[in-house]
Amino acid sequence: MGLFMDILEDIAERTPVPEPSAFSSPTPSTPHEPAAEEYPNYQPRIQCQFCGQHFTTNETLNRHRFERHGASYFYIRVNDTPAKSVEHLLHSLQSLQIISRGNDDIDITISVASKQTRLRLKPNQSLDLLRELELDRNYHGEICITGVLGAYKRSYHLSCNFPTEQAEPALQEYDDIILKAQQPLLAGKYPNIECLSEALQHVSDRGVESYLKGFVEYFLGYRHEMMGDWPAAKSCFETALALLGERASPLAQTATAILAFKMGAYRRLRGRPRSRFSAAVKFLASPRQDAQPVPLSSGCQRGVWMDEFQELVLRVVNHYYARDWLAADRELRSAPRELVEEPNNHLKLLIMTARVAEALGDHRRSQAAWRELLGYPDYTEEARSRIT
Ligand SMILES: [Zn+2]
Repeated sequence: MGLFMDILEDIAERTPVPEPSAFSSPTPSTPHEPAAEEYPNYQPRIQCQFCGQHFTTNETLNRHRFERHGASYFYIRVNDTPAKSVEHLLHSLQSLQIISRGNDDIDITISVASKQTRLRLKPNQSLDLLRELELDRNYHGEICITGVLGAYKRSYHLSCNFPTEQAEPALQEYDDIILKAQQPLLAGKYPNIECLSEALQHVSDRGVESYLKGFVEYFLGYRHEMMGDWPAAKSCFETALALLGERASPLAQTATAILAFKMGAYRRLRGRPRSRFSAAVKFLASPRQDAQPVPLSSGCQRGVWMDEFQELVLRVVNHYYARDWLAADRELRSAPRELVEEPNNHLKLLIMTARVAEALGDHRRSQAAWRELLGYPDYTEEARSRIT
């Protein structure tokens, strides 16, 4: 009796204390031990802490652990790089994967913003955690990922406290300066380009820089026009169009539309049915397309300055599509002489004269305009069909 007792004590000491196993939870139940008295040849049974399989010697258990579980592990990839157990992210989360290797299922617990998610990773599985957790790329805070494989436990701590990235700098902050620069134009004076140049000196962001430079060129162009230097103006407007065309702010997009219209780049304005230029673009197309008048007053106090000639074109076009030929003609005859010298304006004036005079039955004026239009490739074909 005493001897048996001794053996049982001995077994208890030599058997590894059963560690909590992920796969035999809850706590591995102590297997029903056959009474030693009943089985004099009883062999001790040792359980694998990974899979719960039983072994009779430590030697066989160790061999099993090495062969069956030795290659089992998991790891994390953050932004396409294997993560260290503690990571401080400097950029937003572009990708977050969890990958397992080996032969075992791994129980994963993920804590994000006080919410816990549990999942079981299959052998050699790869999971997209951004999708699994519906995690925002700009998530700020901690992410803790713990994997349990039997008694084996591994944790990753990711700290997402990167600086917030801005897609487009806040261009609108600078709009007051742009409005200030154009203010004198409303009174027929040179624009105040100096206030833009001054602001440019304190700007380091390249998006803001090209925004402000775009408007410097925009207003410089008008200054050249006021002096009658059309080639210099054209060059400024082209630079402004290139700089502002890329910027997403309302003022930049407005200026871009005005410039495209001013310079006859109508293709840039097509397919914009709500544009204030939509009817004019159809009127100036060859052949002319049908359109409806477009309300010109937007009630917007923060618009971009446009020269009187372009305004005049919009008014003529509206009268035309409202079939008020006399009003259209009155506008035409009031066109500011100095602006009509500009080549693009001159071409617009010819087209308007040809169409309006024709509608009025003023044969002599319309024929003269069509004859001159023969020299403009975009209008040659239409002009030929109109000349009698
Ligand atoms: Zn095992």
